[in-house]
Amino acid sequence: MSIELSQALPLAVLDALPNPVLVKDSETRYVWVNQAFEVLFEVDRITLEGRLDIDAFPQRQAAQCNGGDLRVLESGEVDEAVETVFDPALGPRETITRKSRIIVEGNHYLIGVIHDITEVTEQNRRLAEATDVLERQAIELEHVAATDMLTGCMNRRALFSYADELMDSTTSVGVVAIDLDHFKAVNDTYGHEAGDEALRHIVATTLEIIRSDDVIARRSGEEFIVLLPGADETKTNGIAERIRAAIAASPTGFGSNSIPLTASLGVVHHEGNETAGFKELLRLADERLYEAKRSGRNMAVSA
Ligand code: GH3
Ligand code: MG
Ligand code: MG
Repeated sequence: MSIELSQALPLAVLDALPNPVLVKDSETRYVWVNQAFEVLFEVDRITLEGRLDIDAFPQRQAAQCNGGDLRVLESGEVDEAVETVFDPALGPRETITRKSRIIVEGNHYLIGVIHDITEVTEQNRRLAEATDVLERQAIELEHVAATDMLTGCMNRRALFSYADELMDSTTSVGVVAIDLDHFKAVNDTYGHEAGDEALRHIVATTLEIIRSDDVIARRSGEEFIVLLPGADETKTNGIAERIRAAIAASPTGFGSNSIPLTASLGVVHHEGNETAGFKELLRLADERLYEAKRSGRNMAVSA
């Protein structure tokens, strides 16, 4: 069975399309536009016929349109350009016009099909915004999960996972265990809030000594661990001693009180090729720390 198509049918189909469609000749003069185009730009195809963009739409960026048109007509390459147009019914719309070239009986024509991408653009913008917020929240959450709320330094959980990572690498690491001396007496004498302030002060004092790659973490109550990635034994011992001296030399200011504190430190060093895990190193650091306590406190004990 054959269907005889009347010439009017293809044009009627184009008129029924929701997308505005335009046809221009090789000199970028309008030949034909469909109904959706007429509605969007408030023109009729009869008036438009034979006109250039610059005559028909002086308020639009006609020069830019024509530039794209000529490129497509000359090269035959498809061009897609984003443009904001004013829809009389809907207001400003973000559109993308896909332009291509057809050749009919030796004549070159430019076909433009306009797609309204306002909704998609808006959805993409909202999606990007929401993704941004989520990413910021995820970073914030990760930070909170790894941070000791009282002092702002790394917490115990993060310490162990970071330390395990370091032990798995070939980096040598200095580990310093710090336990404040007679800290209970600080709470008993000056109150728990003063004790809290002293803990913050100890972290601040240590941070002034270690480098940005180094880490201080709160292991528990008044015990801290300092990790020194890349430090050799001499450097580790030197930093431990500087931390001890700085704590002893800088009492915590709390109201009108100046609260003196000292700390005992156990110092170990791990070479990158050694197999000992972090727990093993901590056990050794603790042994040395208790030795410092037994030997009179305010002391760093290393190998
Ligand atoms: P030593 O020299 O033997 O280490 O004596 P110490 O008093 O420091 O040791 P002990 O372990 O007996 O006491 C630790 C104290 O630390 C007891 C506890 O009240 C205090 N502490 C632990 N966590 C916190 C905290 O978050 N804030 C305050 N203010 N005190 C805390
Ligand atoms: Mg303790
Ligand atoms: Mg203590």
